[in-house]
Order: sequence, then structure tokens, then C-alpha cells
Amino acid sequence: MTNQDLVTEARTLFPGGVNSPVRSFRSVGGNPVPIARGEGPFVFDTEGTRYIDYIGAFGPLILGHAPAGVVEAIRRSAGEGTAFGALTPGEVELGRRVIAATGLERVRFVNSGTEATMTAIRLARAATGRAVLVKFDGGYHGHSDGLLVKAGSGVATLGLSDSAGVPEPIAALTAVLPYNDPAALAGWFAGHAAETAAVIVESVAGNMGLVEPTEAFLEALNTVPRAHGALLIADEVITGFRFRYGLSGLLPRADIACLGKVIGAGLPIGALGGRAEVMDLLAPLGPVYQAGTLSGNPLVTAAGAAMLDGLASGAVYSRLEELGRHLENGLNTAIRRAEIPACVVRRGSALTLFFRAGVPASYAEARESDTGAFSRFHAGMLKRGILLPPSQFETWFVSAAHSEDEIDATVRAAHEALREAANA
Ligand SMILES: *Cc1c(COP(=O)(O)O)cnc(C)c1O
Repeated sequence: MTNQDLVTEARTLFPGGVNSPVRSFRSVGGNPVPIARGEGPFVFDTEGTRYIDYIGAFGPLILGHAPAGVVEAIRRSAGEGTAFGALTPGEVELGRRVIAATGLERVRFVNSGTEATMTAIRLARAATGRAVLVKFDGGYHGHSDGLLVKAGSGVATLGLSDSAGVPEPIAALTAVLPYNDPAALAGWFAGHAAETAAVIVESVAGNMGLVEPTEAFLEALNTVPRAHGALLIADEVITGFRFRYGLSGLLPRADIACLGKVIGAGLPIGALGGRAEVMDLLAPLGPVYQAGTLSGNPLVTAAGAAMLDGLASGAVYSRLEELGRHLENGLNTAIRRAEIPACVVRRGSALTLFFRAGVPASYAEARESDTGAFSRFHAGMLKRGILLPPSQFETWFVSAAHSEDEIDATVRAAHEALREAANA
């Protein structure tokens, strides 16, 4: 079967031919590449063409594709049965590792990042007796109803939904503020403290492209909600175990942290955790209901524990920093040579090349990027065997399976693809 056959049949089976929208390549144009298998830093399409991969399954694959320890753990676990609807040793193993690494007192495993944030918000509302949630423009926290909301430009407003099917009264419970704007956060609480249950934020924004938080913004996040009796929810679904072994450390005053992606090694997982007094509000101890037929699944937790074994020494993170820096430097040189307005934002192994001259501090600024130039660049890289996330507003992930050879090949391709993107 050719790539095109598969894509064509998928369009008759799934809305838009996909089971998650960004995979459709609609924001860059062209046809999506169906992937048949992965190995280390590479993926192979159904026709056997090899690509150096920077999608990394959108975040989980920090050790690259099919690392031996993870694969072996999944094989072993699968042979012993795939689900029991009962406590299993595997979930205790992973829970012990996550708690030791993060300092959270209790965690609950769920099946996705979406479930983690959804439950965290329910918990915050129960803990405070308040209803309103504050999020930031361009922050992505999964697809539950109340989170599919964005701001009117600049000014804090109660939200209008980004998605059809979200009733206005639900969207109206989400307030959206600009990212990296401590004054807007303080201003919100000056007027709305009594109804605000929680603030949810990505510790480093990874879903508007990579956008770094300023020190002043982090300081405000760590102090302002607490001063007004609201909870701080750190969405560490990307950042947890991505930059160091455990939470990012950027939001030490968070009341609830949400995890996902890396801790499941590419199998479906999410987790939320916090102090026992907050977490114990969850059923069966407390009045906040939450459940999951497959939560804490043995295959997933075995994979996650093997992944964390591969990360625990911390050596991986210094290697990832080296590789990330090497890629950043190479891309910056390519940008200068191509004389194209673009910049690279990087933290550790996560990176975005924005087609915009200055580093963006907010989603409004990120959105000023030239998405046409990004589309041409994406196509130019793909044709040279480099698979980038198919949107300007996604983050590239380097894995520990990448080497300087792959990074150098990527930079060589970028020199040509940037020139093409500039000259179009
Ligand atoms: C991916 C992501 C989620 C949602 O996780 P899913 O497993 O896709 O539901 C939530 N928050 C952030 C920051 C994410 O990047």
C-alpha cells in the first residue's frame, strides 16, 4: 500500500482522515505522512522512506522510538494480561517513582493529559467552592469543554469558545488572560477573587510554539492566586520529566500538577498530583468523583516505569541540552545566511523556529509569524527527509536517540529549506 492509498482510505474512515486534527497537515498543506514504524531518531513511512523525526509523538518520546527497555517492559507486561480492574504492582511502581521525583504527596493516574487537567479543575472548584477558571491565551490544556476558550485581544474577558458545541454558560466560566502579563493577572484578581477557583498554566508554553515565561510572570503565578485563596494548577503534561527528572521547578507553589506524555513512554497516560489534603477530596475518600476503566493500566505503567528508569540518572538531560544547543546554533546560522526574519526559541530538548524576527513573549506575538513561510519550510525539510511538527505553533522535540550526525543533517537541510522559504 502506498502512502497515498492509506491517506485516501483513512479519509473514508475518520473525519479528515485522522484521529487527532494536527496530524492532517491542514495547517501546512500537502499530504500527511503515514508512519509505519520508528527506530531511535528515525521514523519510516509506509513506502519505507526514512525521516529524522522531531515530532516525537508530540512530546512523550524523550528516548526516541522503541527504546529497548521500554519495549521489553511492554512485552513482558502484555504476556501477563492487559487489564484487571484492580490494583496492580505496576501502578504502585510508577506511582512510587513519580512521587519520589516530584515531591507530590499523592497522584492519580488517568488516561490522557485532557483527563488530568479536567479532574484538576473539578478538584480546584470543590476545594474552593468557586467556579471560575483562569487560563492564558494560547495555553493548551486538552480538549475538555471549559478549556476550549480563548481571549479577546489584550483585555481580559470572560471567554468565548473556540469550538462549536461548547455552550456559552460553560465558556463563560473560563477567563482568558494574556500570557507573560503579571499586571493582567493581578488585575483579574483585584476584581474577581471571590469567584475564581484556579489558574491553570503551562510551566513553559509549548502549544503556541515554545514561549518562555518571564521571571516576573512566574513570580506572579507563584504568589497572586494563593494570596486570593485560588489554586494554581501547573500543567506539566509536556514539561514534566522533559527538562529534568521530575517537575520543571518553575511553579514551586502549584497546588496541583498535571503530568502526561513522557511518563507514559508513548502509551496513553495522564496524572494529577498534589498535597494529600487536596488529592484526598477525590473519590473514594472525598466527594469529587473521578474514575477510569483503564486508569493505571499495567501495560502503560510498565512502559512508564521503564522510561523513568532510563531518565533517573539525569545524564540524559545533560546530553539533551548538548544536542538541543547544537541544533539551535546550527539553525541560527542557517537563519542568518538565508537572511530571513526568523528566530529560535529553545529550552533543553524542546525548540520552535518562529518565522518572525523577534522572540515572541505571548500568543499574540507568536501569531505574527509568517505561517506561509513555515509551510514552505516544512515542505522543504520533509522533502529532505526531516519530519517537523506540521504547524508553526508546535514544539520540536529532540530525543536522546538523536546524535550530532542527525542534527548536522537537519541543519544542512535547513540551510536549503530556509533559502527556499525566503525566496518564494
Ligand atoms: C498534550 C497536552 C495536553 C493534553 O494531553 P492529551 O494526552 O493529548 O489529552 C494537556 N496539556 C498540555 C500542556 C499538553 O501539551
